[in-house]
Amino acid sequence: MSYNAWFQCINGCPGQFSLLEIIYRCPTCGDLLEVQHDVDALRTRAPAAWMQLFDERTRKSTYPYGSGVWAKKEWVLPFIDNENIVSTFEGNSNLFWAERYGRQLHVEDLWVKQCGNSHTGSFKDLGMTVLVSVVKQMIADGQPIDAVACASTGDTSAALASYCAAAGIASIVLLPRNKVSPAQLVQPLANGALVLSLDTDFDGCMAVVQEITKQKRIYLANSMNSLRIEGQKTVAIEIVQQFDWEVPDWVVIPGGNLGNVTALGKGFLLLQDLGLIQKLPRICVAQAEHANPLYRSYLSGFERFEPVTARQTLASAIQIGNPVSAKRAIRTLQRFNGVVEQASEQELADESARADRTGMFNCPHTGVALAALRKLVEHKIVKASDRVVVISTAHGLKFADQKTAYHLGTLAGIKPNHRNLPVELPADAKQVADTIARHVERARLLEA
Ligand SMILES: *Cc1c(COP(=O)(O)O)cnc(C)c1O
Ligand SMILES: [Zn+2]
Repeated sequence: MSYNAWFQCINGCPGQFSLLEIIYRCPTCGDLLEVQHDVDALRTRAPAAWMQLFDERTRKSTYPYGSGVWAKKEWVLPFIDNENIVSTFEGNSNLFWAERYGRQLHVEDLWVKQCGNSHTGSFKDLGMTVLVSVVKQMIADGQPIDAVACASTGDTSAALASYCAAAGIASIVLLPRNKVSPAQLVQPLANGALVLSLDTDFDGCMAVVQEITKQKRIYLANSMNSLRIEGQKTVAIEIVQQFDWEVPDWVVIPGGNLGNVTALGKGFLLLQDLGLIQKLPRICVAQAEHANPLYRSYLSGFERFEPVTARQTLASAIQIGNPVSAKRAIRTLQRFNGVVEQASEQELADESARADRTGMFNCPHTGVALAALRKLVEHKIVKASDRVVVISTAHGLKFADQKTAYHLGTLAGIKPNHRNLPVELPADAKQVADTIARHVERARLLEA
């Protein structure tokens, strides 16, 4: 069976374009393109046969199918040559049963999809493997491409630089100066990217990168390029697979540029179209109050969507005021009976620390999602019996200095309600023993 996929306009304008063509927008209306699959061809394989195929490939080492993305190759990018696939065995991330934290929140069936446990420490790997593989295929086919470029709030550039370095392709990343964490800055530096630190915010970098990629020798890697969505959508398929092909009741996901929620929805819809699932989950997009254009739009019943100027937030990867995928995200939420919640700086910092106390090590964006979930539970929108998945988008270690500052109490404007400080003592056994005894006693009192 041969499967096929192509670009077409998200508004249904006529025209299909090859995924190997350098095109990011619809030539008729100027809006985004999306990847469309030949679903009839995919339907010739029965749902049970797809499940079996995916289960067989999962975590095996036959390149590239052991990757969580490429295990679903036929649903992602069917025609690419395996030798041009640039994979780091991304995906297959842990679906963590947050048992203790869930009990505290009064949602016992709570799971955290640890997308940050990945090659470069964020879910961006899922999409970047697809995009860079296409570039490698285009170069192999003789297209003149000099480099791949992106604007980034940190994680996209880390993924782009790593996958390009693995493939031997030049990468260029545009970062807002002083708005990404040191760990996020060192990643593309280490991988040898040309790192351009611009005196602007993410939205400003996005405007510049769109200009420089107009000449087609520099390929655009931002999520307005829908190839990334194809890889990122596998997170939905993977979650369902990890539940033995059952659909959760809710998925809570932090949103900035809103590509990831679009991808999440696309994954579930394909599962439904192909008969692997019969129902859809509800989706909550969680935004930082300092960068909340989707939340504001939600309050208007999605009647209006107005970009905002994003204010500084600890959740730096979602500090975006003019999200490129806003329209797609709204359509997704309408389809999934979705809601939007927001979290203040204090709420996201405390929630992240609170959840850390139950064994996690959360990035601030995951903190936004967890704080949003707490509100949904309080408002009885999420019920105690619901099965809930929270998408954790990056590894907390990328934000170690911010997390340290929380516990030290040096984060401006934040009261560290769940801090834990080191106890400084001389190397004296008696004093150490006394301190431990006091600690144990206090813990006992707290439990009682
Ligand atoms: C990119 C990113 C997001 C936001 O994803 P969008 O697709 O821009 O909505 C959230 N968290 C982290 C850690 C990210 O890197
Ligand atoms: Zn169009």
